[in-house]
Amino acid sequence: MRISFDIDNTLIPYVDDFEVTPVNIFWKLIGVESLREGTKELFQALQNQGHEIWIYTSSHRSLFSLKKTFLLNGLNPKGYINGKRSEQYLKKYACDASKNPKLFGIDLHVDDSEGVRMEGNEYEFETIIVHPKNKNWVTEILQHIETL
Ligand SMILES: [Mg+2]
Repeated sequence: MRISFDIDNTLIPYVDDFEVTPVNIFWKLIGVESLREGTKELFQALQNQGHEIWIYTSSHRSLFSLKKTFLLNGLNPKGYINGKRSEQYLKKYACDASKNPKLFGIDLHVDDSEGVRMEGNEYEFETIIVHPKNKNWVTEILQHIETL
C-alpha cells in the first residue's frame, strides 16, 4: 500500500504534545526538524512489510526542507506533497477538500485532524487519525494496517 503521513501535530509537534527524537545541534542549525518518537521504527516496519511511505502536509515547507528533515533523520519516503503541490492538484481536479490523498494514488493517510477524517468519508479516502497525546500510536497504526 502507499501510505502517507501528515506532518504538523502528527510527526512534528506544534508545541510539546509528544516526545521527539532530537536531532544534533548542527542539523538543527540548518533547519532539520526532530520527528516524533517512534517515527523511524514505524516507517521501517511499514517499509519492511512492502508499503510505500509518502509525506503529505498542507504546510508550506519547501520540498527541499521536507527531504532534508527526513533524509537526515535516516528516513527515505518515496514521495513528498507539500501545501503548494496539494493545492495544485486540488485545483486541477476541482476538489474542495483541504487534502485529497486519493489524487496521488495514496491508499491510506495518517493524520491528527478529525476534519481530515470527515473529508476522508466524504471524498472516499482511507484515514487513520492519531491523537498527539497517543503514546501507543506506532502499535495502533501497525495493528490497524494489518486489518485492512
Ligand atoms: Mg496535522
